[in-house]
Amino acid sequence: MMPLPAPNSITSTLPSFAEARRIVEDYAATLSPTPPELLSLLDAVGLVLAEDLCADRDFPPFPRSTRDGFAVRAADVSSVPTRLRCIAEIKAGAGVEESAIAVAAGECAEIMTGAPVPWGADAVVMVEHTRRAGDEVTVQSSVAAGENVVAQGAEAQRGATMVVRGTRVHHAIVAVAAAVGRAEVSVHRRPRVAILATGDELVDINLPPGPTQIRNSNSYSLAAQVRASGGRPQILPVAHDEPGELAVLLRKGLESDLLLITGGVSMGKYDLVEQVLASFEANIFFTGARIQPGRPVVFGEVHSGATRKPFLGLPGNPVSTMVTFQLFARPVLDALSGAKPQPLPFAQAMLKSDFVTRTGLTRFLPARLEGTHEQPVVELVRWQGSGDLMAVSRSNCYLVVPPDRERFSVGEVVTVLMT
Ligand code: AMP
Ligand code: MG
Repeated sequence: MMPLPAPNSITSTLPSFAEARRIVEDYAATLSPTPPELLSLLDAVGLVLAEDLCADRDFPPFPRSTRDGFAVRAADVSSVPTRLRCIAEIKAGAGVEESAIAVAAGECAEIMTGAPVPWGADAVVMVEHTRRAGDEVTVQSSVAAGENVVAQGAEAQRGATMVVRGTRVHHAIVAVAAAVGRAEVSVHRRPRVAILATGDELVDINLPPGPTQIRNSNSYSLAAQVRASGGRPQILPVAHDEPGELAVLLRKGLESDLLLITGGVSMGKYDLVEQVLASFEANIFFTGARIQPGRPVVFGEVHSGATRKPFLGLPGNPVSTMVTFQLFARPVLDALSGAKPQPLPFAQAMLKSDFVTRTGLTRFLPARLEGTHEQPVVELVRWQGSGDLMAVSRSNCYLVVPPDRERFSVGEVVTVLMT
């Protein structure tokens, strides 16, 4: 399909969403991660492994029963019903003697979930498919060899890599680390992320705003996003729309691993961020993208000595700030954290009501994903535009509108970006 004309000529020179994202991803791939540190397991949650986690023994360490029932020789129960003699009981955590027994032809052993399957037996019949009278067990249903048993080392053999470095630690990774006996793990230290809000209208949240002032919410929403992404946010004082003050605070921000600026990147007379960064001889990779919200987003780097300091100038409208953080700041933060590149979390759902939009930009519209596992449905949240905090606080995803689409009808399948 031919690309549709962009809304105006300034916009048409800007990269598309996919192009801008690619620029960020390619840049992120050139960054070195922060150095590793050893942290206790739960303190490592949300950070990225700087080492592989390896199996210190076979997993499972013995052939493990996955059912409560009777350990049998499958050949003995190929025709049912059949009677076997129960020679032992083996529970999870069985002592050495109990687990060293051997099941001979015509015999079985009572066994519990998680217990070692004894020598001679090669399958487990669920207790529901048996009847017992004293030592005599009637098996009512056949099992194949290996059924209800996980062979020793089937999940991982001793020495095998169970989790590769570059993986972000979450509850399942914590479980693996615990299972291999790691009370401490090596993770990359949290990247320091400076957050600089700009704008003469802003006051901090502990001060009373004047009649034409608003509270600085972006520094806090960004700090929350940074923290949730494994970074250490450092909120700088609000910068007035004045080049001297901006320069001082931008310099301060560039001492961190990553600098996020909000506001001051649009086309207004007092949007000075780009101009001041240019005076630092910054390399600017893009000064906008064909997206909404967030069109004026700026991405670049400043060299300070041998190191390169990436920065993102995020548009000041609160929803734009949130969206552009996720689309463009997150991959940079991931790379600094040592994480492997992560795709954006897109999903598909059925549209709950019709809507109309304009072509030319990729749009990320606050929406609510609901419904059931059989039929997820999504609906736009009513909003007053990219400044609408109420709308975004009611949303749990963004509905992604491709630049060539105008009309959407109830029942069609659309893409959403999970937040
Ligand atoms: P700007 O990108 O500086 O042109 O700002 C766009 C809109 O976002 C304006 O309405 C600003 O008042 C608002 N805004 C800018 N920075 C912040 C902030 N830190 N917190 C809340 N709103 C902001
Ligand atoms: Mg401003």
